[in-house]
Amino acid sequence: MTTATWTLRCSACDTPAAITRPSLCTACGQPLFARYAPVGRDTALLSRWDMWRYAPFMALLDGEAPVTLGEGLTPMIESPALAQAMGVRRLWIKDEAQNPTASFKARGMSAAVTRARAEGYPGIVVP
Ligand SMILES: [Zn+2]
Repeated sequence: MTTATWTLRCSACDTPAAITRPSLCTACGQPLFARYAPVGRDTALLSRWDMWRYAPFMALLDGEAPVTLGEGLTPMIESPALAQAMGVRRLWIKDEAQNPTASFKARGMSAAVTRARAEGYPGIVVP
């Protein structure tokens, strides 16, 4: 993919963490968050039609290949009747049911499984 433009830091105490084998903060046990460096306007989207189109902006390691069923880029659908009922001028609904799993959770799982595979985990368990 791209050279890492991100780091991991603790969400609570800001302690930096290695970008390989991320889990919880070694100092306080809280979750780690990715912090992104600014990217230039010349950073291009990938020529694919799923969430991995945005890979140059995501927390990926060099050579990390997406595990995907084609998640993302679901349509926005305007709903005039719901807008009227809600008393707003316009209202749009993101149709996440168009994801392969029919859930918005597919995006996060694609990213999580991608990282798990890159780290060599033999399998994962999810709710
Ligand atoms: Zn911490």
